[in-house]
Parts: sequence; structure tokens; C-alpha cells
Amino acid sequence: MTDSQQVSKLIVTIDGPAGSGKSTVARMLAKRLGVDFLDTGAMYRGVAAAAIDSDIDPASEEHVNSMCDQLHMRFNWDADPPALKIDGRDVTHRLRDADVTRAVSDIAANPHVRRMLVRAQRWIGNEHRRIVTEGRDQGSVVFRDAQVKFYLDASPQVRAKRRTLELHKAGREADEQKILQQIIYRDERDRSRRDGPLVCPDDAISVDTSDMSIEQVVQTLHEKVQQVMEGAGGQR
Ligand code: C5P
Repeated sequence: MTDSQQVSKLIVTIDGPAGSGKSTVARMLAKRLGVDFLDTGAMYRGVAAAAIDSDIDPASEEHVNSMCDQLHMRFNWDADPPALKIDGRDVTHRLRDADVTRAVSDIAANPHVRRMLVRAQRWIGNEHRRIVTEGRDQGSVVFRDAQVKFYLDASPQVRAKRRTLELHKAGREADEQKILQQIIYRDERDRSRRDGPLVCPDDAISVDTSDMSIEQVVQTLHEKVQQVMEGAGGQR
């Protein structure tokens, strides 16, 4: 069987809307392939958290931009999943807070932030060489030449239910109706922004996960990656 450890470069992108299961699937797929997992949503959330915690209005591009130019963002790759550090402080616990989720659409629509994070993501891709990366623009903008691209989707209702269960499991309060409204709002903003909008790239494999278990999704993606790697066997 083809082993991902033997290929010198393997970039697998997984894009899709909020709650499509990308993070969980990407993390499990990366583990199965023995490669690193890059959560790019965490990077946008990290900037949002840094703005809020510095009393900066996330919608004020001018203030966010100058804050960003001073920000040191790093992942600790030894943690599972990799922990996000900003200015030396682990901010992972902050990323799923409701105020950060509310602010992140403004941050993600800011062209300066996107340019900075796209550059950082490409740098990580070059350094690590074998990664599964997930977000909104990974196959369409950041890693256009990725070896394998996926687009995961599910109905907004299914996605809201999943997010609610996820938060309950983590011992946090969650109102499914409110989460559904947030998901619809974020979808609309992610799809309509000019810079790096959420789209399904032409060369991506699209998977509707509405009626699939996480395990089935991971298995489906794993098989596809193996097929591609076997096909590319001569290019190692
Ligand atoms: O995936 P997650 O919900 O953590 O992403 C948080 C937000 O970050 C998304 O709603 C989206 O607006 C933004 N994002 C983005 N591009 C990415 C990853 C996330 O715009 N590559």
C-alpha cells in the first residue's frame, strides 16, 4: 500500500462551510496519513480573539491592521491538535468562545488579514511539506496546486445540530436555533466576500456529509488520497 511518509510533498485541502465536519475530518485524516493538520479557521479566530482582548473593534480595518503587523502567531506542533500561540500565549481555549465566533466574519473579510494569513499558511505548507489543511480558500487560493482537494458540505440544519452537540460535549451552553442563524450568516459572508470567498474549486472532490458518519467521511477521503498517491507513484 502507498505510504504517505514516502512522498516528499503531499498537500491535501479540505474546504467547506461552517459545521461541515472539516476540522474533525481533517484532523483524523491527517493522523491516518501520518502528516500534520493545519486548522486555518483557528488563525482567523486567533486574530479575532487578539482584537477583542486588546479592545479593538474587529470591524475597524485600520486598527486591526496595525495590531496584526505586530502579532506573532505560531502553532505548537507538538500538541494534538496543534495549539495556537499568539505573542507567546496559548490562546486555543479562547478560539470557540461566542464573542470570537461573532467577530470572526469581520476579521475574515479584511483583505490585509487575509493576505497575511495566506502568506503564513503557504510558509507552513513549504516547511511541513506533508499536511492536511482545512478552511474556506485552501484549494481555491492558498494551495491551488495541492495534490488532492476536497469540498465538504451538509445542510445548514445538519451543521447546526453538529455544532450544538460538539459544544454540549465540551460542557458549553448552546442554542441550536441561534447557532443555525449564525451558520447562515457566516455562510453568506464567507460566500459573498470579494477576497478568498468560499467556493468549491473545479478540481475538488465534493462530498455531501449530511447522511454520513465522521468515520465514513474519513474513510472516503482516505481512499481517495491513496488512489491519488498510487497514481502519482512515479513522481516521488
Ligand atoms: O472553520 P472555522 O469556523 O473555525 O472558521 C472561522 C471563520 O474563519 C469562518 O467563518 C471564516 O469566515 C473564516 N475562515 C476563512 N478562511 C479560512 C478559514 C476560516 O475565511 N481559510
